[in-house]
Amino acid sequence: MSASSVPTNILNEVFGYPAFRGQQQAIVHHVTAGGDALVLMPTGGGKSLCYQIPAIARQRAGHGVTLVVSPLIALMHDQVGALHEAGVAAAFLNSTQDWEQTEDIERRLLAGQLTLLYAAPERVGTPRFLGLLDTLHAHGALSLFAIDEAHCVSQWGHDFRPEYRQLTVLHERFAQVPRIALTATADDVTRADIIERLQLEHAKQFVSSFDRPNIRYAIVEKKDPTRQLLAFIEREHAGEAGIVYCQSRKRVEELAATLCEHGIDALPYHAGLDAATRQQNQDRFLRAEPDAGVVMCATIAFGMGIDKPDVRFVAHVDMPKNIEGYYQETGRAGRDGEPANAWMAYGLQDVVNQRRMIDESPAEADFKQVMVSKLDALLALAEATDCRRVRLLRYFGEASQPCGNCDNCLRPPDVWDATDCARKLLSTIYRVQQMSGIGFGAGHIMDIVRGKRTDKVAQFGHEQLSTFGIGAEFSEAQLRGVLRQLIAVGALHVDAQAYNTLKLLEPARPILKGEQPVRLRAATAAPARERTRKPRTATPAPAVAELDTAAQARFAALKAWRGEVAREHNLPAYVIFHDATLTAIAARAPRSLDDLQGISGMGATKLERYGEEVVRVSLSTGLA
Ligand code: ADP
Ligand code: ZN
Repeated sequence: MSASSVPTNILNEVFGYPAFRGQQQAIVHHVTAGGDALVLMPTGGGKSLCYQIPAIARQRAGHGVTLVVSPLIALMHDQVGALHEAGVAAAFLNSTQDWEQTEDIERRLLAGQLTLLYAAPERVGTPRFLGLLDTLHAHGALSLFAIDEAHCVSQWGHDFRPEYRQLTVLHERFAQVPRIALTATADDVTRADIIERLQLEHAKQFVSSFDRPNIRYAIVEKKDPTRQLLAFIEREHAGEAGIVYCQSRKRVEELAATLCEHGIDALPYHAGLDAATRQQNQDRFLRAEPDAGVVMCATIAFGMGIDKPDVRFVAHVDMPKNIEGYYQETGRAGRDGEPANAWMAYGLQDVVNQRRMIDESPAEADFKQVMVSKLDALLALAEATDCRRVRLLRYFGEASQPCGNCDNCLRPPDVWDATDCARKLLSTIYRVQQMSGIGFGAGHIMDIVRGKRTDKVAQFGHEQLSTFGIGAEFSEAQLRGVLRQLIAVGALHVDAQAYNTLKLLEPARPILKGEQPVRLRAATAAPARERTRKPRTATPAPAVAELDTAAQARFAALKAWRGEVAREHNLPAYVIFHDATLTAIAARAPRSLDDLQGISGMGATKLERYGEEVVRVSLSTGLA
């Protein structure tokens, strides 16, 4: 191996990073040597380098081009742009290009001028594309297949893309070409499915810790989610970038409008918007300066592959379907390693909705069963009174200790003995069913328990029930909380086919009989302790705050310069230089190119291309 194809040299020279992180080195060496790999690494863990460095190393050693399969057409431009900035010959082929552009790229591909080629899975399966690969292969110029977002191949992942299933053709047709598949998500079921579907039985598995210690997890009881969200943003994230996930397109639109009315620069994103609007909103979000406070309100259609490093919060105003989805979505916060928040508001209606969606789906029974158990795991997380992170990591097969950085660790929730309340609710549901021969929904059951003489109560004569008014001492919030948790633990079933009526299930029996105590999270009134927290205005990243006045001025000038370059190149600012790189430059007060040596993120190409400008801008503040 010549020095130029040694992975560590590529890391230093091309990317300007001093050292590999975590398992990167082991992965890069394995794949560079021609091994197959399955890489599980959390978002922000540094997956891209795991295939980009082997691609460069193998290209330099004469093995030809690496094909990167990625489902993210809308992001290919930026991914390839980032490689160009680092001086790497890369291109993408997708449906946004015209015939001329396509031909030009194919020509460069066949001329051996590309190190990486990005393509969407639906393109990879076409005869024309396979023909190109055949030609390359015949010339020994097909080096490596990198399959990004590999969980898309599995129906248990939350982003199933049937086109991923065709990717087995790569292995069948080009058996000698090594493959690396990467994903940030996969519980055991999904992992097994990826291996089977992509025929990766012989691939070496690299599983990193899934912990994201800088993310603080908090799950609050949903009351008025819009108001709660506004308070959360104003309290903790004024002027910062964030993503808010909603269940429906309609809700996305409403919420974005409401946030705008409150002076927050919010944008909508969902699959119902036309492609141009989606791309425009995505670009605005990605290209905004970190302190511009742009908030994306979105359905799950948004976010895969989003590599914006400075997203400071991810909020869920509706509950996702399972922990994989939740973890993947919240993982988009804090990729730069700085503190970030994952915040979710969750309530009875979420449980009812999610259960109903499963019931009403046309899927097979055993599929539904898996979905139900995945939902249950998320419900248990939401109701938990112990460390959220311990539960999250356990779900991904990792043991850990209480983290000290989640809501439950920071403010242990009050727990109350809800046995009596639960029994009163359950026996009312039982008696109502006995008396009227039909079930009723949560609202009516609560009215009976609290002794409210509504029209419906009168209509069915339910004031005659022995349980009428037996729970008058409980607030509606308490009853609602108990019902939600009884549904969550499987003691109650919500029958979507019959107006969301409540039915008793087997686990209700020991509770009804008083054999099993029920201890629940207290229904908190207003989160008073949260409100007393000091309001935070948009502060620069801590490292920036630590700079002296002169360095702050250099940082500001460098940021303005970076903004211009980014606009000129039509790329997000962080693709040019991360904030951390600008901070390091500002701190060093460079007077010559030499002074820029060894700054993390300053690769050879960037040094050559921007070094002199950076020194000039830095000196121009007159404070160097
Ligand atoms: P993901 O695993 O989510 O795809 P990325 O590959 O986008 O993560 O990497 C996350 C961030 O960490 C990127 O900004 C990348 O430049 C940075 N990074 C990755 N590896 C290293 C490293 N060895 N040293 C310094 N920064 C790194
Ligand atoms: Zn914790």
